[in-house]
Order: sequence, then C-alpha cells, then structure tokens
Amino acid sequence: MSDPVEERAVEMLRSAHLRVTGPRVAVLTAMLRRQHPVAASDLIDDVASMRLSEVTVYRNLNRLADSGVVRRVDTTERRRRFEVLDAGESDHEHAHFVCDGCGTVTCIEGDVPPVAPVSLPDGYRVDAHRVVLHGRCATCD
Ligand SMILES: [Zn+2]
Ligand SMILES: [Zn+2]
Repeated sequence: MSDPVEERAVEMLRSAHLRVTGPRVAVLTAMLRRQHPVAASDLIDDVASMRLSEVTVYRNLNRLADSGVVRRVDTTERRRRFEVLDAGESDHEHAHFVCDGCGTVTCIEGDVPPVAPVSLPDGYRVDAHRVVLHGRCATCD
C-alpha cells in the first residue's frame, strides 16, 4: 500500500482499535481527501470502486463516530454530516459555514464566539452551543 492518505486512514483505524476493513479504509480515505464535513451521499462516488450503498457508508460513518475517529457535525441541514477528528482535536469546537448555493460545509478556524447574552428561564443552564453560519462561498458568490 503506497497511498499516503490511505496509509493514514489505516493508521487512524488501528489507533482507535477498529478492525481495518476495506469499506472503513475507503470511507475514511475519502473523508481525509475531502477536507470538508461530508454526508454519506457525498462519499458514494468516492467509494464507487467498492460498490458500497449509501446505507453502508452511513453505517461506517456512525461506527467511526462512535469510536472517535470522526465526529457528527450539527448543521441546520437534514442530512447528517461527519468530519475527521485529528488526534488531540476531540474537544476543539469550531463554527461551520454552510454555503446555501452549493451546500458545501466549511470548518471555520478560531474559537467559537461565546453565547450571546440571553435570559434563560429559571433553573436552565447551557451545556453546549453550536455556531452554524449560512451564506455563499467564494465559488458561488
Ligand atoms: Zn458554494
Ligand atoms: Zn468542522
């Protein structure tokens, strides 16, 4: 195996103590190449040589997410998206930008801005918040 991206995918599966299977390597390699949060349907063409169904890709993505290799990305879309977690990045929260033109989701570097001051009902507390920005990417603008 000489593809460095594929080798990295295998390495990530091993360090997560996951069995190295063809579909997992293919799905993770495709994600590493894309460098954007992806939905299962985005990866279908990338893994065409493996003849995986969207359901199979989705199941593999969920397995990878359960093992902390990738994580689920909350956007306001109906499709569930996933992104690769780099080692040590597990609790690094960042904002996501959704292009309403082409649907591409981009990770935005930098700290997530704090929650805007809101008055919560008595006894409520905030544990997490997500920042999802909507707009147009450079290609669509
Ligand atoms: Zn766009
Ligand atoms: Zn991200």
